Amino acid sequence: MNILVLNCGSSSLKFQIIQTDLEKIEKDADKQLAKGLIERIGSQALVTMQATGRPVVKHAAPLRDHRSALDHVVKWIISKDSQIPEIQSLADIHAVGHRVVHGAEHFTKSTIISDEVIRGIEDCIDLAPLHNPANLKGINAARELLGDGIPEVVVFDTSFHSTMPETSFLYAIPYQLYRRHKIRRYGFHGTSHRYVAYRYRQLTGKKPDETNVITLHLGNGCSACAIKKGASFDTSMGLSPLEGLVMGTRSGDIDPAVIEFLSHKEGMSMNEIDTLLNKQSGLLGISGLTNDMRDLLAEANDHQDRRATLAVNIFAQRAKKYIGSYLAEMNGADALIFTGGIGENACRIRQRVCANLEWLGIEIDENLNKEMTGGKEGEINTKKSRVKVFVIPTNEELLIARDTARCILDSLNNKS
Ligand code: ADP
Repeated sequence: MNILVLNCGSSSLKFQIIQTDLEKIEKDADKQLAKGLIERIGSQALVTMQATGRPVVKHAAPLRDHRSALDHVVKWIISKDSQIPEIQSLADIHAVGHRVVHGAEHFTKSTIISDEVIRGIEDCIDLAPLHNPANLKGINAARELLGDGIPEVVVFDTSFHSTMPETSFLYAIPYQLYRRHKIRRYGFHGTSHRYVAYRYRQLTGKKPDETNVITLHLGNGCSACAIKKGASFDTSMGLSPLEGLVMGTRSGDIDPAVIEFLSHKEGMSMNEIDTLLNKQSGLLGISGLTNDMRDLLAEANDHQDRRATLAVNIFAQRAKKYIGSYLAEMNGADALIFTGGIGENACRIRQRVCANLEWLGIEIDENLNKEMTGGKEGEINTKKSRVKVFVIPTNEELLIARDTARCILDSLNNKS
């Protein structure tokens, strides 16, 4: 099956085409046919597309909304220009898999799209006002352009965490607020945590119930996950993706009293405080320079910028704090896994996060650590480290494609 994987943000559309089916999943022989990204939808959009093994195509195009962006992508995919031999016409796109950020308690696994499922995703908008509407734009665009003939599946960032026990997911606020409004920890980046745990099993030959690991997804958004017996046991993001680790522009954990204090002292509205915590905080807020870790590391190391150094150090210390608490919660772990743009590439961050953790059994090999960048996968711990430390590049799109194939084949089997 050729599956179009879509990940829509408020003004962006990321896509991949992945060829997969049950046999390919079993043999780990899925094939990526193309990938791309459209940014700044709504104005002169920037389009980057690439068929696997072919040169990158880049151009600008006036794309008013997600529907026109998807139309642009699909036209390219089926055109001769794209040079994807497996796809000659629309009929060669067999299914669509969508990333959806929030599935709340409603969706605990990937699901074939129906009107009822769309209503369920709409019901979660209150919990993810920035993300779910953008995901729905992608779903509606695909339904309009590709028609009902092509099955579509939604894969939720939250569903991997649906195994968390109440002790992990409940906040210590009056219980009736959970009953009434479902205020609780949901967790995000679930597809990424799930993917790296799956790769860990492949690399080590462990079975799911032997998989006790801590995964750190460090990108623009960052989250940690305690995975016990192969299932999410605790995670750092909460009701929304704002809680937990320090991120590019998000604060992560703060004392909730800061909100009232800010409104009083700065006369800020709830909306303004929400923007401050989501868009002006984190690495950007502390450094006053940038949310980009690459630039920050350069400022910290090459120019000895004090606040860039502080931002990097606070980022690393917060990650360390979560590792410690998850080791305590799980009574130890067999491995620590780094992923995401920072986790996969920034050896200096991995070094800072893992420094002085020998007492907890974590020790990384500096040379292995330095070598592990640019999409490489493997161990970076010393021989005597009790906990293994891995760098595993994430691949959420692959799991979205596989879930899409499985859901569709299951539903066909159930019908026959
Ligand atoms: P997103 O969460 O948007 O998918 P990514 O996972 O791509 O983001 O991560 C983006 C972050 O990764 C940025 O802070 C970027 O600076 C950082 N990053 C990417 N490559 C490197 C590198 N070689 N060294 C340090 N940081 C890097």
